[in-house]
Amino acid sequence: MKSNYDVVIVGGGMVGAALACALGNSPLKVALLDRAPAPPSTDKEYDLRVSAITLASRALFENLGVWQGMERRRVAPVREMQVWSGEGSGSIHFNAAEIGEAALSWVIENNVIQTVLIERLHQFTNVHYLCPVEITDITLADNGAVVTLKDGRSLNAKLLVGADGADSGVRHAAGIETQSLNLNQKGIVATVTTEKPHEATARQRFLATGPLAFLPLGEARSCSIVWSADTARADQLLALDDPAFMAELQQSFGDSLGKIQTISPRAAFPLALSHAKAYTAPHLALVGDAAHTVHPLAGQGVNLGFLDAATLAEVLLDAAAKQKDIGAHEVLRRYERWRKGDNLAMISITGGFKYLFGNDLPVVSQLRNLGLDLTNAATPIKNLIMRRASGLEGDLPKLARRVWH
Ligand SMILES: Cc1cc2nc3c(=O)[nH]c(=O)nc-3n(C[C@H](O)[C@H](O)[C@H](O)COP(=O)(O)OP(=O)(O)OC[C@H]3O[C@@H](n4cnc5c(N)ncnc54)[C@H](O)[C@@H]3O)c2cc1C
Repeated sequence: MKSNYDVVIVGGGMVGAALACALGNSPLKVALLDRAPAPPSTDKEYDLRVSAITLASRALFENLGVWQGMERRRVAPVREMQVWSGEGSGSIHFNAAEIGEAALSWVIENNVIQTVLIERLHQFTNVHYLCPVEITDITLADNGAVVTLKDGRSLNAKLLVGADGADSGVRHAAGIETQSLNLNQKGIVATVTTEKPHEATARQRFLATGPLAFLPLGEARSCSIVWSADTARADQLLALDDPAFMAELQQSFGDSLGKIQTISPRAAFPLALSHAKAYTAPHLALVGDAAHTVHPLAGQGVNLGFLDAATLAEVLLDAAAKQKDIGAHEVLRRYERWRKGDNLAMISITGGFKYLFGNDLPVVSQLRNLGLDLTNAATPIKNLIMRRASGLEGDLPKLARRVWH
């Protein structure tokens, strides 16, 4: 059975689902495919995967009509952020009030984001959500792309979008190479409860083996941890039983939240920096982790992906309004030019941080402590970093511009 679509998006994760919503209620006929079943509706237990959402991503959610649905479930504001080095001698403190904002970011569980986006796209008659499906073939031709499914269906698309994550099958099918740096680190995630309340403050300590972050959750004494560590150290930590792991965690993090009282099961993800050499080809575009991955220390990964989705939607809707071919490479190149520089800058910044903080050389250690203290003392630089990290700077697509005050 053959179906014709304007846009076929492979990957219904957070970024693919956001793109599908951004194309909702438009003249374009869209299919969103995922090999996994629809996400389970959120439950009482915190999802181990959470994301710190910038102001630009919140603006996108408001504009897509999904922010209230997320707030009704679980959203935790981050009003302050403390960053300090392992030696404890250099530190920096960010406060949203210093840039006139109510929050620097919001911590939301990944499955809350994905569930609410998927609920929203069911309201659009021009978007079809197909899952779980297995793709058996992707063919790129001069006039479009054909995606063949194991159940015999084939989908013709004027534009095929790869939103299928870091190991993107769409990117492989298009023969697009990536520049990658294996960081030889894993990110361990878990939910903990602590003796003292987090007071809407995100805390990150830079250890020589990698950064350890405590992100505030909805309950006053619950935090999501992301502990990035060199692979050997991470494997050693993962092999510990809960009491031994909590003791290591306490020792590495310190006592700013008092005693760590409980811990959920843990999960771990390999960390890598990667950047696709091209984001587009005729009739093809890549968004989110399919195009780039960054270190989680700056909490920017999915936020860059949301900006990709908002930008690509704007470019496609502009082209459609002007009766242009949405798969034409010159149309898609506008998206690529718009996003590539921004994404590359963030990859370099997080890579540089990793070098600066993951280094035992005494001179580097002195420099980083000095750097943190000097930056903390220099209000304009600090405010610039806050504005940049919150997504308030840069050439934002319309959907990511704020609509609240
Ligand atoms: C430990 C850790 C902490 C992080 N913390 C943050 C943070 O605080 N803030 C932040 O901004 N980012 C963070 N990130 C990064 C963020 O999680 C990713 O950038 C984000 O998940 C990427 O979303 P995506 O939709 O592009 O890809 P993915 O989440 O990988 O989704 C890809 C989707 O494609 C589907 N798929 C794959 N292959 C196929 C196929 N062949 N056919 C059909 N479907 C397919 C998958 O099932 C999946 O649903 C973190 C990452 C890690 C590892």
